Amino acid sequence: MATKLTVPLLAFLLAAPLHAEPLASEQIETGAAVEVQSAEITIAQGDSLDRLLAQGGISPSDRAEAALALDGVYDIRDLRPGNVLRWTTRRDDNSRLESLQLLVGNGVEVSLSFTGEVEAVRLEPETTTRGRQETVVLNGSLYDALVSIGAPPRFAVDLTALMAGQVDFRRDLRGGEAFALIWQEDILPDGSIAGEPRLSYSRLTIGGHDYELVATDAASPVLLFEDGELVQRSAPPIMGARLSSVFGNRNHPVLGGRRMHTGIDYAAPTGTPINATGAGRIVYAGTIRGYGLTIDVDHGGGVTTRYAHLSAFAEGMAPGTRVRAGDRIGAVGATGLVSGPNLHYEVLIDGRPVDPLEDDAVPTQEIASAIDMDALARGRLATGYSSDQEG
Ligand SMILES: [Zn+2]
Repeated sequence: MATKLTVPLLAFLLAAPLHAEPLASEQIETGAAVEVQSAEITIAQGDSLDRLLAQGGISPSDRAEAALALDGVYDIRDLRPGNVLRWTTRRDDNSRLESLQLLVGNGVEVSLSFTGEVEAVRLEPETTTRGRQETVVLNGSLYDALVSIGAPPRFAVDLTALMAGQVDFRRDLRGGEAFALIWQEDILPDGSIAGEPRLSYSRLTIGGHDYELVATDAASPVLLFEDGELVQRSAPPIMGARLSSVFGNRNHPVLGGRRMHTGIDYAAPTGTPINATGAGRIVYAGTIRGYGLTIDVDHGGGVTTRYAHLSAFAEGMAPGTRVRAGDRIGAVGATGLVSGPNLHYEVLIDGRPVDPLEDDAVPTQEIASAIDMDALARGRLATGYSSDQEG
């Protein structure tokens, strides 16, 4: 259902004009006919603010003023296809701006006024948080189940990563499994969802065992319980990303030919935060040929995780630094041999790469705190579950 919707949307984006088209003009009743021009442009792939303004006939000095005023208020490299640009020009000179607006998604508006000192203001929308919960019986893939209950399909990637080591969805799902989910969404005044919905609880009964994920808040690691026992405290290496390449032999995107891919790739925009997936100590932070900017974390017991192609390290990330699951260690980039920005995530056991989605990645002894157990109890209560009942 959701996939069908993306086709006309994409067509719409592709059909967006590449250059500025004045949408409206008004005649001003004065001696000579002069016009105020206004334009509205939907940003397309490859557009830049400066180029669009130049194509709209805006003077170099006003374009420079706009860029200067935006500095520190909005990073114009964050403009995405589908964002909207609006401006009006002065009555006496159509090459001079009177106002400029950037509608940059999630209800955020950046507004510039050119009357007097040029000033940029960023307006954040008012949002309300809505909690959602659903229970469903799996009857196919996790992805289909998520779509059917109106949950973000990307949760399938997050759930797969968070439960890696305990559950292998491709191997273990047979159909008929009970699945419960609680998540939160931030709602804009127009009813649309802002940003990324957040998963707070999920329960899957699979092979006679109850697996429960509990996320106490966005900054904390996610806890995985098996039949009420905490078995894993982990974080996905990245939130809300698309799994773009799996472990195993594949055609190399840059070098060509079939080569072994020793990790999994998550496609995400440059700058997207990357988290340590488990507790450990950084043993390498530097550049490796092919991998680009790379961090290796030693989790003990012969288990190391590797995060590659980064654009930057988070502050203080150096060999010897201790990290916890969910700690931010760097940002997505395109360093090394890549065709675009992505995170290459690798799990090594005794130096040998293993499939992070299939093997016992990051095994650690875990003890649940009172806070952990309280969060588990709240998730169970909200989804009408008692541990006494048969799964
Ligand atoms: Zn990779």
